[in-house]
Amino acid sequence: MELIHTVDWMNQVARQARTDGAIVGLVPTMGALHDGHLSLVRAARDECSSVVVSVFVNPKQFGPTEDFDRYPRTLDADRAALEPLGVGHLFAPPVEEMYPSDFSSAVLVEGLSERLEGRSRPGHFRGVTTVVLKLFEIVQPSYAYFGRKDAQQARIIRQMTRDLNLDTQIVVCPIVREPDGLALSSRNSYLQGPERAAATVLHRSLAAVRERIERGERRADVLADEMRAILSAEPLSAIDYAEIVDADTFEPAMRVHGSCLAVMAVFIGSTRLIDNMLIEERDGRITCTL
Ligand code: AMP
Repeated sequence: MELIHTVDWMNQVARQARTDGAIVGLVPTMGALHDGHLSLVRAARDECSSVVVSVFVNPKQFGPTEDFDRYPRTLDADRAALEPLGVGHLFAPPVEEMYPSDFSSAVLVEGLSERLEGRSRPGHFRGVTTVVLKLFEIVQPSYAYFGRKDAQQARIIRQMTRDLNLDTQIVVCPIVREPDGLALSSRNSYLQGPERAAATVLHRSLAAVRERIERGERRADVLADEMRAILSAEPLSAIDYAEIVDADTFEPAMRVHGSCLAVMAVFIGSTRLIDNMLIEERDGRITCTL
């Protein structure tokens, strides 16, 4: 595996791979890699002959009071985790390489970027789409892999690729969880003492919604109330948002039908965690995927 720090070299290497007939897959990450990230890498490796993983803690997607400075940076460990997986290139550019001092452009997917995560984190998705478009231009991948853990992000990136006629297929992979249900996240390392056990409340509240749906409940407000009641009962938690939304528009749903998502952002102590459950109606039956 080759470690690449410059945009030009990454671009040249990816261009050569395509010329040689390789199918290039890109897995964009912010590093501090865990099994969730590695599941995307495995999916990429299964479908693509050349896999590029990017590790870049993107300053543009962090708000001024967010955790950019303390976000975990573990490049040596990330490299060791990727080495056995058949990854061809690890792209880890410094900030100045991606954003020279005169950088002045941005990409914004309107509407979708303003809801839920976008409302709580103004400018977040603008930073995400800007860096992802840059990565797509640098690597020109045939496929790019994202986790459903960040469902709204995946939806926005899909919209960007459609709107801008990008020649990259977006693949969305399942959420990888700890045995107790907590979704793997680089931010889980912030959880202190009793906060780790408290953090399972996100998964517990989603599982409770699934149970209510399986018993026949279809009203979104009733399901959302159930979810919030469970989250509120956890003393270390504070809800940012917890809603049932349409999976396409991210607007609040009235009833669960078609494809919906139960989505939430919850503070456990000072750590902000997100999670979701996909609720899909097929042939009159509803399936919930955690
Ligand atoms: P991040 O490093 O947090 O920007 O995440 C990089 C990619 O990994 C994103 O597409 C995330 O959705 C995905 N990801 C993060 N955590 C998980 C998880 N627990 N399961 C599956 N994918 C994940």
